[in-house]
This record gives sequence, structure tokens and C-alpha cells, in this order.
Amino acid sequence: MTPNRGQYRGRFAPSPTGPLHAGSLTTALASWLDARAAGGAWIIRIEDLDPPRIVPGAAQRILEALVRCGLESDEPVVFQSARGELYQAAFARLQAAGLIYGCACSRRDVDEVIEAQAGWPAGVYPRTCAAGAAPNKPIRAYRLRVPDAKSRFTDRAAGPFMQHMTNDVGDFVVKRADGLWAYQLAVVVDDAEQKITDIVRGADLFDNTPRQIYLQRALGFSTPRYLHVPLVLNTAGEKLSKQTGATELDTAHPLTALNRAALHLGLPDFAAHSIEAFLRLAIDSWREKRQP
Ligand code: GLU
Repeated sequence: MTPNRGQYRGRFAPSPTGPLHAGSLTTALASWLDARAAGGAWIIRIEDLDPPRIVPGAAQRILEALVRCGLESDEPVVFQSARGELYQAAFARLQAAGLIYGCACSRRDVDEVIEAQAGWPAGVYPRTCAAGAAPNKPIRAYRLRVPDAKSRFTDRAAGPFMQHMTNDVGDFVVKRADGLWAYQLAVVVDDAEQKITDIVRGADLFDNTPRQIYLQRALGFSTPRYLHVPLVLNTAGEKLSKQTGATELDTAHPLTALNRAALHLGLPDFAAHSIEAFLRLAIDSWREKRQP
């Protein structure tokens, strides 16, 4: 189902694992510009699902930094930590469809099985528990059974991309036994529940897209359009993140930060003197570059 352009709904979905940095601002700006260029809505969703990785106060700092850059959510900000019931309902439907099984493997168990099987693709779960976990081992996570089939999508920039679900992806975790929801399930449920028509996000999530599309179909949701934008890398070639030591965005100079983000997205230097003027010029430029 192709979303109607008149009802464009986009989102920016940061994980509050640290402050806003040059990389997350770039993704935020790209998704905001895409929404504005299409005359659509832009919504911020805080993906605070993983308590050990959440930094207290980071969500608020991210939101404040975005406001200083002129990027504000058109609707109340949604927090994933408050949406467990929605994820549970989707999980129950997958369970009822026979698509979920309990898995007792630790990461080490998985690695050992993979190492022992020459040629098994790295990162693909070897289905140890697919026919039932050993009765004496506690369940650690719930996995979604994937079919022996391809899942494909067409990225607006990179073009067509395809993965084979069993060979390239494998049965993936949707819930941990301790109750934590996996990003893959939460993102699919929220994008559908929030009626998101267009996803603009970092290229690090490019190869997560086919499995998310599979999950959308399993739940009867429509598939949004996708655009993955280039990551901002540090000098070692790593994605900027808290782990790679990304520094907090200097929001004393939001225009400088926005200009850098725009250049990274392939937009020209607008030499604008205010945030309002910058954003206006950037919307026009984005419309020319990105709209069909
Ligand atoms: N929360 C994810 C992140 O910060 C983004 C998820 C998405 O855009 O689908 O990397």
C-alpha cells in the first residue's frame, strides 16, 4: 500500500543513550526537511526501551537541543517506555500465529554453534531452539520465526535491496525473557500505530529494513517508504555515538551545527543569518534534490 503524499507523516526516533551529536542532528534534520518539503507532519519518538543504556536526562537534553535548532515535534513526543501494552498486543498476535518460540541460548552458545558449522553466516541464529528449547535450560528470549523467502524494499536513494530471511537474517529476538522489548518489534509497532508514511534514518539501519518489513507484513501493517541517509563518521571511520566518544552538539551555535549537518546531506552552504532563513532555504533545496 503506497501512502498518500498529502498525509505524509515522518518521525525522528533517537535513543536517549547520550546527548544530541552531529550525527543525530544530521538524521533529525534530514527527516524534518523531508516532512516539511512534502507538507507533512514530523513527530519525535524517544526510543527509551533499554534501561541499562539510557542516560538519565538525555531525552530532555536531546529535545532541548532540537528546539534550539528550530526542530520541534508537531505532536506530543512519544516515549516507548510507556507503550509496553501495544508491544504486548502485537507479540500476542505473533504468538497466536505460531511465529514465536522461546530460546534458551546465550550469546556464547550461539557463537559456539556457528563456529562449529563451517560456512554458517555470522550473526544468523542457527535455530538451535526452533523445534523447542532444552527443558532444563531457562528461556532467555523470544524469537520470531522467519520464512525461507526473500524480503525486499526500494530505498529512495540506494535503490532496490533484498535479503534472504533465513540465510541473511535468521530468526530474530523480539522480546527478552526479562520483559525488555526488542527494537525491531517496537519500531514496527510504533511506526504503524503512529501512521508513519516515510522513514528517513541513518544508513546503519539499512539492513534492518527487510526484517522490519517482514514483521510489518506478519502483523498486517502497511510498509512506509524508506530513505537512509549517510552516517556522520569520526576520524576512525566509526559511526558517531556515545560509544565512539561523540561530543555533545554545541547548541550555543545552532546555525553552525545545522550548516554542517546540511553539508553532510549534500545541501549547499546557504550562508543564512538566522535559523528561520536557513530552514526555509534548506526545505526548498531538499525539495529539489529529493522529491520525485
Ligand atoms: N532509535 C534508533 C537509533 O537511535 C533509530 C531507530 C529508527 O530510526 O528506526 O539509532
